[in-house]
Amino acid sequence: MSLTTTSASQPAVSPGTEPATGERPLQLWFDGEITSSEALHAPLTTHAMHYGSGVFEGMRSYATRDGAAVFRLPEHLERMRKGAEVLGIRFDVQQAAAATLQVLRSNGHRDAYIRPLAWVGGGSFGLDIGAQPHHLMVASTATNVHLGGNRARLTVSKWRRNPATSLPPLKLCGAYVNSILAKREAKGRGFDEALFVDENGLVVECTGANVFFAKNGQLIAVDHRDALPGITRNTLIALTGARSRPATRAELLDADEVFVCGTAAEVSAIAALDQREYGDNPITRELAALYARVVRGEVPQYTHWLTAT
Ligand code: PMP
Repeated sequence: MSLTTTSASQPAVSPGTEPATGERPLQLWFDGEITSSEALHAPLTTHAMHYGSGVFEGMRSYATRDGAAVFRLPEHLERMRKGAEVLGIRFDVQQAAAATLQVLRSNGHRDAYIRPLAWVGGGSFGLDIGAQPHHLMVASTATNVHLGGNRARLTVSKWRRNPATSLPPLKLCGAYVNSILAKREAKGRGFDEALFVDENGLVVECTGANVFFAKNGQLIAVDHRDALPGITRNTLIALTGARSRPATRAELLDADEVFVCGTAAEVSAIAALDQREYGDNPITRELAALYARVVRGEVPQYTHWLTAT
């Protein structure tokens, strides 16, 4: 079974137009065509809806002097390819890249969050997905989706992160139920975000972001085998030479500054970890400002990380 187009009479898409929220529904790319998001419906038997049999990415485009550009597009799509491979979903990196640029142009988006998703459509409730149909969509939204740049209050989650021995740290849809549980539990206790810590007291990551801390002027990128190998984390290590190593919850509590990072979160300072309140965060501020310049193509050394639309 596949997504079906329920309205054939959507207005034509004119490339390069400005977003017209309220006047024109968002356009998305679905299985080879740009379509109005409002015209598409997934059948209730969609396999991915029942079992999380899909893989996604979270990417961003930014307004640069030379127009909109996607930050580290090949790296995001390579991670998605790995997830698709492990699930056995067909995935064409070149097609996904072209679809991403096309959807941004169709929506007239410059600063945007981009969501590609490859999934099993199905129609069978069996767990063998070998013969089921596969789909690809790419959507973009001008809305901020994570942490929103505020200094978040973290709490150590009551839940453990999916162990990599059970679920590879890739962006497999079903794996995110673990993040949803942790986010829900943290919010229920009045915090903004959950920090996963393993049974040995080692920090893993947050629900949708990796963790860094600074102590005595040294910057540490927390490393854990159960954490997603974040592209923002990789970017920040390249920018600063931060040391990547495992770290304990106790070290985080003792740190001068803690921040989390991700495509959506960017570089986001942490205000508190449970009862521990952090003070001023000059290192985080400086790094957030540098990251903002890099993603907008303002640092010549790193413009190769941008793909123009
Ligand atoms: N960890 C998790 C669980 C995430 O979902 C994300 C967001 N993709 C990250 C870390 C940060 O990864 P990236 O910097 O590649 O967006």
